[in-house]
Parts: sequence; C-alpha cells; structure tokens
Amino acid sequence: MQLEALVVVQKPNPRSPRSGAPMSLYLQTEVEALALQKWGGQDGLDKERTRRLAKRLERAQAKAGTSASQQSASQQSTPEGGLPTADCLVDRRGDAGASSSAAPRAQQQLRELPEFITERIRDFRSGNTADWRGAAGSRGDGRPVLYWMRTALRGHENPALDVARAAAERRGVPLHIAAFLLRSHTHPTERRYSFWMQGLRDTQLELRQQGVELLVYLDGMSGPQSEGWAALTALAAASSLVITEEMPVSPYAQWTKDLAAALPPDVAVWAVDTACLYPMRLTARAPAKAYIFRSSTDRPRRERLQRLPYTDGATDWARLLGGAAAVAKGMEELREDPPARGPIPEGLGWDPLNLSAPGADIAALLAQCDWIDRRVPAVSHMHGGSGEGYARWEAFRTKGLDLYAAHRNNALKRDGVSRLSAYHHYGMVSPFKVARDALLARSNGATKYVDEFFTWREVAHAFCLRSWPVLENVQALPQWAQQTLGRHSGDARECKSMRQLEEGTTGDHIWDSMQHQLKTTGELHNNLRMKWGKAFLPWLPTPDAAIAAACHVNHRYALDGCDPCSYGGILWCFGLFDKPMGAESTPIFGQVRRMTTSSIANRLNWNAYRALPVAAFGAAAVAGPAAAGGAGGGGTQPSIESFFKPRKKARAA
Ligand SMILES: Cc1cc2nc3c(=O)[nH]c(=O)nc-3n(C[C@H](O)[C@H](O)[C@H](O)COP(=O)(O)OP(=O)(O)OC[C@H]3O[C@@H](n4cnc5c(N)ncnc54)[C@H](O)[C@@H]3O)c2cc1C
Repeated sequence: MQLEALVVVQKPNPRSPRSGAPMSLYLQTEVEALALQKWGGQDGLDKERTRRLAKRLERAQAKAGTSASQQSASQQSTPEGGLPTADCLVDRRGDAGASSSAAPRAQQQLRELPEFITERIRDFRSGNTADWRGAAGSRGDGRPVLYWMRTALRGHENPALDVARAAAERRGVPLHIAAFLLRSHTHPTERRYSFWMQGLRDTQLELRQQGVELLVYLDGMSGPQSEGWAALTALAAASSLVITEEMPVSPYAQWTKDLAAALPPDVAVWAVDTACLYPMRLTARAPAKAYIFRSSTDRPRRERLQRLPYTDGATDWARLLGGAAAVAKGMEELREDPPARGPIPEGLGWDPLNLSAPGADIAALLAQCDWIDRRVPAVSHMHGGSGEGYARWEAFRTKGLDLYAAHRNNALKRDGVSRLSAYHHYGMVSPFKVARDALLARSNGATKYVDEFFTWREVAHAFCLRSWPVLENVQALPQWAQQTLGRHSGDARECKSMRQLEEGTTGDHIWDSMQHQLKTTGELHNNLRMKWGKAFLPWLPTPDAAIAAACHVNHRYALDGCDPCSYGGILWCFGLFDKPMGAESTPIFGQVRRMTTSSIANRLNWNAYRALPVAAFGAAAVAGPAAAGGAGGGGTQPSIESFFKPRKKARAA
C-alpha cells in the first residue's frame, strides 16, 4: 500500500502560495499504519528513523568539520593543519576570561541562546520557564552570576554552563563556578566522594583552559570558613542569579530547595536540565508507562538530536562531533601539563582546592575528613572524570555497541553493556554526544542502546521531576500496585535486618553474592540488579520499608546511586512502569511481577560469572594507564570472585 491509497485532502500551500503546488493532508492514523506496514512493524520503523537521522547527522558533521577547520585555520594553527583535536579541545581565545569576568557588550552583540538550551531553564521557585531574556538580559547591579556545579561535571556541551556564561555576559558581571562537597549528603561515602572529586579534577582542568577557575570546596578542608553550606549560601547571596543542574532526587533537589529558601527573593534560582535530550520539564505529568513515554517523546527528541550541538565558542565543534578517544587523550594530556589556575574572586573567605596541584592526593584529602563514611571505600577499577568516561565510551562504542542487543542481558559479557551509568550520573560525559555517536553507528545494537538510553533513562528523570519528594514510598507507585501490595501487607514475611542486607548475609547464597559484588565494586549488571531489587519486598515488614531499604542499600554502595535511574529501577521492582503480571493470590507480591534469585542460577553460569575480571575496559584499554591514576590507585584487574565471600559448598538456591 502506498500514499496514493490513503484518504487525502488538498489545500493551497500557505508557505508558497505562488508556486501553485497544493499541500496534501493525510490522516495521521492512516500514515502511521502505512509506515508500520512498510517498515515491518515498530522495530523496523525505529531502525529506518535512526538510519535517516544518522544520515542527517553525518551531513551536519561533514559541514561542521569544514567550518571547524576553517575556524581553526584562522584562529589557531594545529600541528596537522586540520581539525583541532586532543590538545585543542577548547580554544584559547584572548577573551576566554570574559566568562569569568564578562565585560558588558553592546546590545546588538549580546549572545543569543538557542531554544534547545533555553527550554531547559526552570525558575526553581515558581516552577515556570525562566524569563531568559527579561531577567538575564537586564543589566545587573554588578552582582555576579553563580553556577553551582554538581551533576554536569564537564566544560563542554553543558547547558547549565552555557546559560550561566550567557547570563553573566548579558549582565556584564563576573561568572563564578563553584562545586561544594558537602557533609550533608545522605550517603557521604569515600567511594562517592572520591569518584566525584576525580570528576571535578578533570572539569577544573578543562575550565582552566577556558580561563575560568572552578572553585572547589571540601567540607571542613577549605580554610577559615569551614562549613560548606555557609560558604555556599554566602556566595549565592552575593550573586544576582544562581544556576544549577536540574536533578530531581535527594539530596540535590532538597539542597536546591533549601538554598532557594535561604536566599533573598531578588536572587533568582534557575535549574537547567543537563541530562536529558528531551527536557524532563516538558513532560507535564509523571509518566506511567515507558512505551507511552517513548512514543510521545521520540519524535521531538530526535528533532533535537538533529540540531547541531550548541557551542558558544569556548568549545569547538571538533570536540563535540569528533572522536571520544581524542577527547579522552586530551584530558590525559591536560593532567600531565595542567594549565595555570584561573582568577579566584576577591574576598571569597575560603581556599578553593587545586585538585591537580603537584602532590594533590584525593585519597589523602578525604582521609582527613572525619565525616566521610570510610566503610564504603573508593574502588580501584573505575575512576571518575571526563577522560576516563570518554575512554570507556570509546571502548564500548568500538567493541560492544554493535552487539548490545544480543549481549545486554548476559551478565557474563562484561563489555556487553557500556558501564557508563556512574559517569552519566555526574555528567562527566555529554549524554548528547553519546546519543549522537550511538546513532551514527547504525547497527541493531546501537538502535537498542539508543532506545534504552533515551526511553528508560529519560522516563526515570521525567518521573522523578514530577514525583519528588515521595519517591521513597508506595505513593510513588501506580494505583494498581499500591492496592495489590496493600492487600498483601499482612502476609507472613521472612524479615532480614538492615545489617544482613548491607553485609550480604541473608542466607540466600545468590543474593548475598550480588550484594557482595555491589558492596565491593559499586557495580551490578542490570539483569542481576532487577532480581536483587525484587528481593527487598519479601524481606522487609512493609512495602514502604522495602522501598526505603532498597534505596538505602543501592545509594550507599552503587557508584551510580542517588540518580533518577535508581528510582526508575527500584520502583520498577515494585510495579512502576509495569502492568499487573501475577495472580492476585501470589503471597506478598500479589499482581506485582515476581522474580526470584533462583531464576539466575538456572540461566547464568555462576562460576564463569565469578571468574570475570572486574575491569573489562576503560581508560587502561584506550587512553593508557596514566588515566587510571588518582585516589585508590589502579592497574590491577581482580576477578569478581575475589570480591565474593569464600565459596560455600552449598549449591545455588
Ligand atoms: C533495582 C535497580 C536499581 C537500579 N539503580 C540504578 C542506579 O542507582 N543508577 C542508575 O543509573 N541506574 C540504576 N538502575 C538502572 C540500570 O540497572 C542501570 O542504569 C544500568 O545497569 C547501568 O549500566 P550500564 O551503564 O552498563 O547500562 P547500559 O546497558 O550500557 O545502558 C546505557 C545507559 O542507559 C541507561 N539505562 C540503561 N538501563 C536503564 C534502566 N533500566 N533504567 C534507567 N536507565 C537505564 C543508563 O544511563 C545507562 O548507562 C537500577 C535498576 C534496578 C533494577
């Protein structure tokens, strides 16, 4: 069946009334049905869309390459005379310092931000779109703009940074960029803070190349003003505008709320979405089903992806469109030869950390913080930062992406999945770049990866934005799940203590092994994680307690914990985004899909799994061993088994 067979109405074309060619209007339902038929169903249609989008991106890339090389030839000479890559990741404009101390520009020269960026800005107090031109366009009273950086640790393709830069420039005021490592995090573990600080170290270097100093505060370690929250509040109160990332989970959302409440009303607070391609704030209600979310957001998301990445001149297109390996290598070189520190605001009242100073040792710094939870130590096989993140992505893109559809559910394939979720949580790699790179691969694996990345990751973000702060109890679940779980709340349970859960001593051999892996490596394969999460319901006295316990254990040990995807995954175990699957008579679960650890034993060669190396790829594989330096050391490749308790004789449950 072709278009000719469909009902069509012809009307004059208002865009080109003189050409005489009429517009042909079809019924959407008929066109959709035809497309599904032509491409052999939804999968085929998705593939075709991806193919077309990739072609468009390729053309855009080719065009961008030309203009980037023209730009580079006129602005800076590269050794090869071609695209600036590794050591030219960011330009060295004479006016780069304008970002940190922007001179007022004539009105006609004011930077415009594209809609792709402005639609991401939310006025945190009112919840509405921020009046970007009105508020940011008016000349300020000299008070600076503050970008409080938390979960977009990158100096490139970072919409919060773009907004902050442009706002400071429009107002003709300085821009301060600061990160505060606060003791008030719900899980201030050594693992989390060392990964975070490794990321900040890369970002500090990257921003220094742009002439800006990222001011890093570590609670209790940053000089006279020894309370990070007080230092943050003081810096924010002296600003006219505070910009931070939209991160709709605790502690980040609570921190933003507390800060907004503590500031005078004339200090605007904006949250900028740096994580999702389709901005989470554009989804009006908490999505109930992933497939509905997918179909309603797919087209606008892909439209956004087709646009060229925005660059304000501080990063060039070559970086945004070029190979991730070059970016990773560039970070490594920056670490070896750090640029000079950028300007530090006068009267700051505390000493910002220089994370790449000779002898700076993140592990040693954290060792001096009495508030750090050292019972969850840093991991040695995975290090934070854009350098390692892009190296990991490049290794997966070249070795694992095409096979993703076939391997993603096989926990034995350590490189069957990207293992990038912790990097995404802290925004150490650009999700936009990852999506573009994946689309260009154009394989079945890449299509599946993009779907997972877009649908499951972004539905979780949109859900959390609309559901925070009731994410840690049954109120977050759909009605049917609340009801069925409620009807079974009195069922007999074999309760475990929090200690048994955290230590992995429940007596369920397989679950305990998974918990040991999570506890010691900070990672757990998605396929195992689902069964791991399902175990909480029968082991805690109430569904509320089970959700809270799963969140606690996940966030405390997982490197990617405290993320919207954490809630997407955990709440899925209790019925979120799912449909009634079981018989109402099933004890404890009722109609919520039940899964047991014994199903793993039937499907997975457990002994082979335990013998896998923990670090399958990453910086060591792509960028060389130097990238693995930092807190916790590195280099060794222990097997997963070495993290397990001595094996019991008992067979899998
Ligand atoms: C009980 C439970 C707890 C979870 N806790 C977390 C968590 O704390 N943090 C976290 O980021 N994810 C969590 N997830 C989701 C999922 O397990 C991880 O995102 C995934 O395992 C990360 O591994 P990867 O980077 O190799 O993913 P890949 O398979 O390579 O997928 C690519 C990316 O897509 C996204 N993604 C993939 N699967 C999912 C998913 N099911 N939900 C949301 N996003 C997804 C992630 O950003 C991921 O990095 C949880 C899932 C469950 C069932």
